[in-house]
Amino acid sequence: MSQVYDLLIVGGGVTGSALLYLTSKYTDIKHVGMLEKYAAPARVNSLHSNNSQTLHCGDIETNYSLEKALKVQRAARMVENYAVAQPDIDHLIFKFPKMVLGVGTRECQQLRERFEMLSPHYPRLKLLEAKDIARIEPVVAYSKGSLRPDEIIALGSEDEYTAVNFEALARSFVRQAQRCEDREIDVHYNSRVEHIRMRGELFTIETRDTTYQARSIVVCAGGHSLKLAHDLGYGHHYSVLPVAGSYYFTPQVLHGKVYTVQNDKLPFAAIHGDPDVMVPGKTRWGPTALVLPVLERYNWETLKDFMRVFRFDRKVWNVLYDLLKVTDIRNYMFKNFLFEIPILRRRLFLKDARKIVPDLKYRDLKFAHHVGGIRPQLIDKDHRKLMMGEAKIDTGVGAIFNMTPSPGATCCLENAEVDMRSVAEFLGATVDEERFKKDLLINDERHQGSDLPAHIITGDAAA
Ligand SMILES: Cc1cc2nc3c(=O)[nH]c(=O)nc-3n(C[C@H](O)[C@H](O)[C@H](O)COP(=O)(O)OP(=O)(O)OC[C@H]3O[C@@H](n4cnc5c(N)ncnc54)[C@H](O)[C@@H]3O)c2cc1C
Repeated sequence: MSQVYDLLIVGGGVTGSALLYLTSKYTDIKHVGMLEKYAAPARVNSLHSNNSQTLHCGDIETNYSLEKALKVQRAARMVENYAVAQPDIDHLIFKFPKMVLGVGTRECQQLRERFEMLSPHYPRLKLLEAKDIARIEPVVAYSKGSLRPDEIIALGSEDEYTAVNFEALARSFVRQAQRCEDREIDVHYNSRVEHIRMRGELFTIETRDTTYQARSIVVCAGGHSLKLAHDLGYGHHYSVLPVAGSYYFTPQVLHGKVYTVQNDKLPFAAIHGDPDVMVPGKTRWGPTALVLPVLERYNWETLKDFMRVFRFDRKVWNVLYDLLKVTDIRNYMFKNFLFEIPILRRRLFLKDARKIVPDLKYRDLKFAHHVGGIRPQLIDKDHRKLMMGEAKIDTGVGAIFNMTPSPGATCCLENAEVDMRSVAEFLGATVDEERFKKDLLINDERHQGSDLPAHIITGDAAA
């Protein structure tokens, strides 16, 4: 049995490590610990190869409402403000041009209307006509030597931070937290939490060989968070639908990020192409969206954790039935299944990728093996719906559980801010507001912090 922690964080991905950093640097909470089951931070969805590395700002994500876009914009600014102040900025955050491409009259009209709505909030966002697109991304605008015949338009910008290595960011958070003086910051790797229980006013957190005690806990363990919440008696009205994303590589054809317009009927963002910050000389394409019965990609040992958390019953069936009865969703799911079948998948994916680069060649497209993670989308059984974006269960008794599909990595600091405030209030600790604003909310007029409801917070869009 170890000593008592004021706060124990479970999970050392970008969400858990962001919270470790914020509580260490901006509160007077004395003893903070983090338990991570692998030997280093960010080995699951925050790993550089398992997500799209996009700093989602809300301007090119056509599946976001204005409200969601502005929330994500604030979150993205926090990450940018943190990263640009670090000595190793060049490993953390990257500038590439970005755009969302509309193809055909309907999508072009949609983007023009979206530009009207967004431009007051995004001063650097531009409406790009075909000739502007041709200057930034020639292979998008041209086909067989002349401008492509279909109408195209894009919304985008050229001089912004658009990509983040979230794995490096998580490592940076841990390093910076451990540098805070007058604190005890313990990070335990190779420590898989098996159970969490409540004994009196304390939580006991059991790994295979150690039992930790804490006055408060925040679980940031992706899909596993829901399993640990269920153990403690919370969140039984949720189930989880793990949606894997796969990627493809081609030689480098794009200079920046090119997203496509979302089909409103589909719960997941359409594919995009962009540079991979860790694989120079290539363009990465994806992600696809395939439902898989595991909580971690390429780790079939997590099948049993999935079974425990899925809890298939009539209510879960109702949500799945509602999804499957929409023809677009049914076809989309089937297509994404085919995207995993060798030989066939390249041909099918090529068709989608050619919406972005019309002259893309079959021989250039390669399936990216062991690239791509799992988005743990929650099923709300009581409200009969699939929830998109991040979800949080704040029990009000010092235990918080985070489930973080996309854009969870962009929202890591904002999410951590909410948890930091909740934990500080619970423990009677104080937050150094001045320092927090000065460091992380520069250029943010809406300095008031998150005004999201405390009990349960959900996003409304995925990427
Ligand atoms: C295909 C795909 C594309 C994405 N693209 C983007 C994007 O472009 N931009 C963006 O902002 N977001 C994106 N996301 C989402 C983003 O990757 C996640 O929101 C983010 O990485 C979640 O971070 P996390 O720390 O909550 O979870 P993870 O990174 O999954 O970390 C959870 C941690 O908990 C640990 N853990 C689990 N169980 C236990 C246990 N029992 N005991 C101890 N430790 C445990 C794990 O080992 C892991 O380190 C994408 C996701 C996917 C799958």
